[in-house]
Amino acid sequence: MPRKRPPAASLSPRTSVPEGDRPTLCPYCDRPFRTDHARDLHVGESHDPTESERERYEAALETERDDLWLFHARAVVGLGATYSATVILYMVVLGSGIL
Ligand SMILES: [Zn+2]
Repeated sequence: MPRKRPPAASLSPRTSVPEGDRPTLCPYCDRPFRTDHARDLHVGESHDPTESERERYEAALETERDDLWLFHARAVVGLGATYSATVILYMVVLGSGIL
C-alpha cells in the first residue's frame, strides 16, 4: 500500500528544544526528536533511508502497530466494562422498584 508523502511544509515544522535536552536528530534534515523510535519512523517515511535505516524503520513500524493493537484492545475492554456496568446498574435500579 503506497503512502502519500506529507506536504513539504510539514517536513520541517518549527521546533524548539528546551535547554538541557539532548534530542536525537534526523541525519538528513537535523529535525529533533524525543526518541530514536520517532526519528526512525521519520527517516523511513520522509527520506530515502539506507538499508540499516530501513530495517530500523520496519522495526519501529512493527512496534507502532503493536502499540496501536494494544490501544484498541484496551479500548474494547473499557467499552465492554462500561457497557456491562451500565446494564447491571440498570437491572439493579429496575429490580429495586425505584423506576
Ligand atoms: Zn528528516
